Formats: sequence, structure tokens, C-alpha cells
Amino acid sequence: MTVLKIREFGDPGLKEKCHKIVVGKQNLNELIKNMADTMYGAPGVGLSAPQVGILEQLFIYDVGDGLQVYINPKIVAVEGEDIDEEGCLSIPNIQVPVKRAKKVKISTLNAKGKNVTFVADGLLARVIQHEIDHLNGILILDKTDVANRRNALMELSKKIEID
Ligand code: ZN
Repeated sequence: MTVLKIREFGDPGLKEKCHKIVVGKQNLNELIKNMADTMYGAPGVGLSAPQVGILEQLFIYDVGDGLQVYINPKIVAVEGEDIDEEGCLSIPNIQVPVKRAKKVKISTLNAKGKNVTFVADGLLARVIQHEIDHLNGILILDKTDVANRRNALMELSKKIEID
């Protein structure tokens, strides 16, 4: 079992746009396995490659029905709106309200490199939008309102002083 170091808020890699993966050119199995060990160990429901310092378009999640792997994912349609509290493994102990689409249609490659398209809603839609944001260098603090962002940044700066 290999647990990778989760990059935290302030790490420049979390602000980068990730590269598209050329499937077949690199072996992703070990990275995916290590990311899964890291996510389950945290524990968390989702983890993107940039959170472990790999700037590639890949994320994994498990909302209770097994590990899912997305490579080069794209949201192709959205529907509705929903605001709910969200946390992030890269911003420990912080929760902020984030507005998301209620339903999303995704096109992605799966772990076998096969293209799949499907519709997700509820928690799954939220997790997918959160992880795709990571691939574009966007964090929940970029998506919340000014007051919540300010409070969260104050909490984070207190933590840094204590450390
Ligand atoms: Zn996150």
C-alpha cells in the first residue's frame, strides 16, 4: 500500500490546468492504485491527480459503489442548480457552500481507456464537478461567496501560524 502526499492549499500545482493524458502511452495502473490507497486512507470520496502533484487529467472517486476512474473527463451538458457545503482533502477542516449544477452529462475515458458518456445527479454530480474543477486549477474557495472565502482564509492563516 502506498499513500501519496496530498498537496494542500498554497501548493502552486493546485492552481494549474492539467495536461490531457495520451492513453496507451503511459502506464496509469500504479498511479491509480496509489491514488486509491491515498483516497481511502484519508478518507475521502474523491481525489484528483493534481492533489498528489501529478498535473494530468485524471481523477478517482468512490461514492459507495466501488472505485471509479475518469481520464480526460469533460462535462458536455448541465442542468439545474444546487448549493451545498463542500470540503476538500487539500483544504482540511474547511467546509464552504458551493453552487453546482444539479445534473451533469459527462464524457470520459474509463480505467480501460474506453469512452463512456452518462448523466449523473445528486452527490455524484457534485463530486464529479468538484474533481473536474481540480483538473482546471479551481478550488472550492474560488467558487464560494466572498464572506465564506474570507472566513476560510482566516481559519487557514490561523492554522499556519500555529504550525
Ligand atoms: Zn478537492
